[in-house]
Amino acid sequence: MASDNKPVTVALSGNPNAGKTTIFNNLTGGRQHVGNWPGVTVEKKEGTTRFDGSELRVIDLPGTYSLTAYSLEEVIVRDYVTLENPDLVVDIVDASNIERNLYLTTQLMELGVHVVIALNMMDVATARGINIDIELLSELLGIPVVPTVGLRNRGTEELKSTILSTVKGVARFRDIKVNYGKDIEEEISKLQQAIEQDERVSEEFLGNYSSRWLAVKLLEEDEKVEEDLSKYSEPGSALFKQVEASRGHLFSVFSEDIETVIVDNRYGFVAGVVREAVEREFEEPITLSDRIDRILTNRVLGFPFFALFMWLMFFLTFFLGKYPMNWIDHLMRGLGNLINTNITSPAWLQSMLVDGVVGGVGSVLVFLPQIFIIFICISILEDTGYMARAAFIMDRIMHWLGLHGKSFIPLLMGFGCNVPAVMATRTLESDKDRMITILVNPLMSCTARLPVYALFTAAFFAAHQGTVTFSIYLLGIILAIAMAKLFRRFLFPGESEPFVMELPPYRLPTLKGTFIHMWERGSMFLRKAGTVILAGSVVMWILSYLPPGVEYGSGASLAGKIGHVLEPLVKPLGFDWRAAVALLFGFVAKEIVVSTYGTLLGVGENRAMISSGLNQFFTPLTAYGFMAFTLIYTPCLATIAVIKKETGSWKWTAFAIGYSLLLAWIVAFVIYRVGLLLGLRG
Ligand code: GDP
Ligand code: MG
Repeated sequence: MASDNKPVTVALSGNPNAGKTTIFNNLTGGRQHVGNWPGVTVEKKEGTTRFDGSELRVIDLPGTYSLTAYSLEEVIVRDYVTLENPDLVVDIVDASNIERNLYLTTQLMELGVHVVIALNMMDVATARGINIDIELLSELLGIPVVPTVGLRNRGTEELKSTILSTVKGVARFRDIKVNYGKDIEEEISKLQQAIEQDERVSEEFLGNYSSRWLAVKLLEEDEKVEEDLSKYSEPGSALFKQVEASRGHLFSVFSEDIETVIVDNRYGFVAGVVREAVEREFEEPITLSDRIDRILTNRVLGFPFFALFMWLMFFLTFFLGKYPMNWIDHLMRGLGNLINTNITSPAWLQSMLVDGVVGGVGSVLVFLPQIFIIFICISILEDTGYMARAAFIMDRIMHWLGLHGKSFIPLLMGFGCNVPAVMATRTLESDKDRMITILVNPLMSCTARLPVYALFTAAFFAAHQGTVTFSIYLLGIILAIAMAKLFRRFLFPGESEPFVMELPPYRLPTLKGTFIHMWERGSMFLRKAGTVILAGSVVMWILSYLPPGVEYGSGASLAGKIGHVLEPLVKPLGFDWRAAVALLFGFVAKEIVVSTYGTLLGVGENRAMISSGLNQFFTPLTAYGFMAFTLIYTPCLATIAVIKKETGSWKWTAFAIGYSLLLAWIVAFVIYRVGLLLGLRG
């Protein structure tokens, strides 16, 4: 914080020829001192000026395009900004060449220093028909922007006053970061942790550098940072092992230089900003990426295309998934028969293995191919760069909801699993946005719910599995929108902030990268099958088998008794006691809804028999209501745990459970009643 008697240090940075020297002279008048940067023959100019009672000390940094460690100038700028801690950096941006100039801006922003943009050469930009929405540009970047014409000393006073108000913390400043995409962001977090845990490194560096910046630089293979860090951390240290591991992982995912991918993402961020805030009267040469974007991110066509891709994803999931699914089904049936013939006594063991384990876990495992296919589709959409744009297409809807476009990324991740998705809300700057995004996240239908839809659509909507499943997902999205709107209005009133679409060039995903992504996520599901679902199945089996002598899985079993207690609650929805039991246990993990039916019916090794079993308890109408209920009600235990952790509040965790239960009940009720009114069989 600068007081009136302490001088404010301001460093000027910018691309060569952006007008730094001109602005420097405008700011300081004649008072300047020319010397060299220590140890090198690069000129260093310093001058002073007074404004509004404060003294400004202005330093003219060497012109650079970037802040990598490739040139002496870049290192000077970087070291000055990090080690000398100026109060503020004025980034001189050539408005007539804004796209290239903003690249340096993204890197200054990354350094975590306060930046004010002097948008210079406004006269040239105007003459060339480049119209810049200054207000929007400032909002998107989260930093003040002052238009200037250095040559004619225009904007100098406003620049000075903006410098002072920013240093004094009066001017608006938001901490915006380039998002490098899920893979790189994950490695950045890991590296940040490793840096923070390395005692000597953190002691030595974290005073001047943010751990995020160091992490990004390590991924970029920045020689200077690596060299500096290695003075304090040995090559075999946990930190450097993590560096190796992260680079190795990213290289195998991208099959490309990580640095290139990082640079592409920064340009992608800039491209998004420019597309929003800059309008050109004359056309620029168009690249293939631009051409694709004209269609896919088009204001009108963008949304239908997004919907089409989503629909295609479900179509493929069921269409292609059928075949490997039948193989696994055969395998499970074979396994069931094998146990049936070879382990005949004791009878309870046979029953537990066949009905409980194979029935329960097997009934979920048959959906493994579909889960893998959906993950392949999501990976491809992400790896091509489409998902980053999808976030933007959705941004308009998000805005209308009063949410930040960035909220869409965690929501999108929710389609995979709500647990990492809730954690991903940490990227949101506003606490209110964060709470709303966390609360509605479970409405994004995670893959754990897919087996439920797959089972029920196969039994009741065999000809339209993809479309019906798509409609359930859509229902979740619509409800999420409605709830977000309600929460924004009544629980967390406030305004949303603008959002930059990241437009890195489209890239062809590599087979290896797609496979790695699919496996990372799919294997999680396998682990779950071997643990939570297995345990749930055995518990269900015990409840169905006991008390001794009772008919397996009948109303007289423990499961039946529990179900009958709960039945009145679900009766108005057209469900029976079995549904009540399945939903109760599905609270642990939603796949257990399926394994419960597998176990309860004691026919888990035979999918066709589950389907025919389900036909006794459901009609297409109540089956649809049941899928909707499964979608909406109480997120699974793991999600609840992460909601508690991220909100730090039992009250909001309880709210998340309570509202979703209530909503699930209401929606299922409406579906059932409206269906009956329409003359459907209940
Ligand atoms: P530096 O390399 O960033 O120090 O840039 P200079 O200050 O040397 O400026 C480069 C050239 O651009 C000089 O010829 C300046 O006179 C000219 N210049 C600086 N600002 C403006 C401006 O706002 N408009 C126009 N038309 N020219 C400018
Ligand atoms: Mg100069």
